[in-house]
Amino acid sequence: MDIGFLGLGIMGKAMAMNLLRHGFRVTVWNRTLSRCDELVEHGASVGETPAAVIKRCKYTIAMLSDPSASHSVVFDKHGVLEEICQGKGYIDMSTVDGNTSSNISEAITKKGGLFLEAPVSGSKKPAEDGQLIILAAGEKALYDEIFPAFEVMGKRSFFLGQVGNGAKMKLVVNMIMGSMMSAFSEGLVLADRSGLDQQTLLDVLDLGGMANPMFKFKGPAMIQRSFPPAFPLKHQQKDMRLAVALGDEHAVSMPVAAAANEVFKRARSMGLGDNDFSAVYEAVKNPDGATQM
Ligand code: NAP
Repeated sequence: MDIGFLGLGIMGKAMAMNLLRHGFRVTVWNRTLSRCDELVEHGASVGETPAAVIKRCKYTIAMLSDPSASHSVVFDKHGVLEEICQGKGYIDMSTVDGNTSSNISEAITKKGGLFLEAPVSGSKKPAEDGQLIILAAGEKALYDEIFPAFEVMGKRSFFLGQVGNGAKMKLVVNMIMGSMMSAFSEGLVLADRSGLDQQTLLDVLDLGGMANPMFKFKGPAMIQRSFPPAFPLKHQQKDMRLAVALGDEHAVSMPVAAAANEVFKRARSMGLGDNDFSAVYEAVKNPDGATQM
C-alpha cells in the first residue's frame, strides 16, 4: 500500500518508520525538509510539497503540531487541497479541536476526497513500538481501508462516529493527563519541602490504587530534573487550552483543568515549551518563574 506522510516530528517520524518497517511504500514531506533524510535512508521517497505527496498517494496521513499547522498544510499554496480528489483519502492524526477538523473535512469532501481524523493516545515510545491508541472519526469507509496501517502504528483503534468525536475524545484524555501531571508535580514538591524523600513517595504511589505508568516512568527523571521531550510541554498546554475551550462551549465547570492550564502556561513562559511536559514540575517548584536547573 502507498501512503503519504506529512509531518516528521517526534511522533510522525516514529509512525512513518513503523510503516516502512512493515512493508508500506511511504512518501514523506516535512516543512523542514532535512528531517526527511533519515526516513529516506530507510526507503522512503520524498514529496516536495504536501500537494506533491497527495498527487502521488491514494492515502495520506498528517501528524502536525497544532490546529494552525493542520490548517496551513491543507489550505496554503501547494497544500493538500490542490490535489485531493475522488478516490483519495486524507487522515489527520494531529491533536486539534473539533472545529479545525470539521473545517478540513468539509474542504476535503467538497473536492470529492474522503476524510478521517485519527488523533492518538500514547507518546514517543508507544509510537516507536507501534503501540498507540488511535481515536478515529469521520468516513467509515476510509477507516476500513486504512486499518492495516493503523494495525501497524497502534495496539487498538476506536471508530467514534462523526468528525469531531476523535478530536474531543483526545482532548478529554489529555485534559485528564495534564491535570494529573500538575497534581503529581505539586505532590513531589510538597514531599521535598516538607522533608520527605521523593523516591519514597514514588514507591508508595506505585504500590497503591493510584499506580500508573506515567508516574512510574516520568517520576524518577523529574526528581533528577531531567525532561528530554517525549511529549513537548508546548503541545500539552495547547491541549489544555483546547480542552478548556471545549468546557466553555458546553458550560462544564473545570476548575482543576483551568488551574493546571495556568501552570503549563507559566512553564511555557519560563522557556520550557520544548521540554517534556513533565517539566511543569519546574513551574511548581519555582512559582516565581525562574528556572534554576
Ligand atoms: P513535534 O515533534 O513538535 O513535531 C511537529 C511537526 O509539525 C513537525 O513535523 C513540524 O515541522 C510540523 N509543523 C509545525 N508547524 C507547522 C506548519 N505551520 N506547517 C507545516 N508543518 C508544521 O510534535 P509531536 O510530538 O510529533 O506531535 C505531533 C502531534 O501529535 C501534536 O498535535 C501533538 O499534540 C500530538 N501528540 C503528541 C504526542 C507526543 O507524545 N509527542 C502524543 C500524542 C499526540 P518542522 O520539523 O518543520 O518544525
